[in-house]
Amino acid sequence: MITDDAAGAFFKAYGVEPAGLWAAPGRVNLIGEHTDYNEGFVLPFALPQRTIAAVGPAPAGEWTVCSTFEDEPVSFGLTEPGEVTGWAAYVAGVVWSLADAGHQVPGARIAIASEVPLGSGLSSSAALESSVLTALIDLGGLDVPLEKRPALAQRAENVYVGAPTGILDQSASIRCQEGRALFLDCRSYEVEQIPFDLAAQGLAILVINSNAPHQHVDGEYGARRKSCEDAARLLGVRALRDITGDQLDDALARLDDEVMRRRVRHIVTEDDRVLATVKLLHAGRVREIGPLLTASHVSMRDDFEITVRQVDLAVETALQVGAYGARMTGGGFGGCVLALIDSDKAAEVTAAVEEAYAGEGFTPPTAWTVTAGPGATRL
Ligand code: ADP
Ligand code: MG
Repeated sequence: MITDDAAGAFFKAYGVEPAGLWAAPGRVNLIGEHTDYNEGFVLPFALPQRTIAAVGPAPAGEWTVCSTFEDEPVSFGLTEPGEVTGWAAYVAGVVWSLADAGHQVPGARIAIASEVPLGSGLSSSAALESSVLTALIDLGGLDVPLEKRPALAQRAENVYVGAPTGILDQSASIRCQEGRALFLDCRSYEVEQIPFDLAAQGLAILVINSNAPHQHVDGEYGARRKSCEDAARLLGVRALRDITGDQLDDALARLDDEVMRRRVRHIVTEDDRVLATVKLLHAGRVREIGPLLTASHVSMRDDFEITVRQVDLAVETALQVGAYGARMTGGGFGGCVLALIDSDKAAEVTAAVEEAYAGEGFTPPTAWTVTAGPGATRL
């Protein structure tokens, strides 16, 4: 059990039992990719896979963190962004973010264990931040309402670690609920919990990790983001979220750059697809979201250009063997695909994707079915 791993790692490192265990999940984004930093809509749900932080007290101003994935514990005091580097920066960043917001962060010893695959687009970084953030808030009795927490964790990642990601990942890890997908407006941070009970309809989401090496992720992510921000400026709007579907043709006609036009088309159509998906889920018409998922993939492949051959192949293959829809999930350039399938088809789809990968000489994929789990919590 992953909880035993975290508690065991805590005892091994510090020679005492932890004061408690806190869990925060990885996430998949059902639909709405790269829309978060365009102040648009996203629809993630929490994975059953979680990161566990076993945490106990330490003297004021002292923090130590170890991870089952790392050899050495890292200790630090109050730091400024950039002082702690490497994996522990995600933890030092959370401490800094809370302190910078004026909170008295309690000193702590922390041991981390995780079931979320690292660097696969399932947001192990947000799971790490959110587990530690939740633990420090509880341990210190800090007054931080749930809706304010994602932005604090995001600042840790944006400012301290230096990764310019949107609010999606931390919102999902902190605010998702079991059996629900989280409809999030990334401008107002308003959320709506959308019923997402696949099992009742004989359906499942299969997550297929392409295991493709991540390449140029940070640079490409930054380039996409800049392209969107430049386009918003040229179009005279605060963010691309302000262009609606019926204004799209007019907006595109006002842009000279062909690449920028495609980037804008992805964001505007993707926001519409999120809204359409929410409507269908509300109506209980879950199968019918399939074509929206697939259209989202095509848009990421052709317009936003963030897919790689392995993820395209997983999508194509899943559709060929009967998935209702399939798309890459996460920032892109590798990572995972999700496919909406009849729940008794998981083995068949997995085998087909494995065979297709073997045929093109790719590292084998890893696939498993998931349900919507709970957000960050004390155990
Ligand atoms: P993703 O969030 O998609 O998994 P990122 O590159 O954003 O990928 O974050 C992965 C990084 O987060 C790892 O390289 C590591 O630095 C850190 N990390 C996440 N989980 C853990 C963990 N359990 N132990 C140590 N470091 C972790
Ligand atoms: Mg991440």
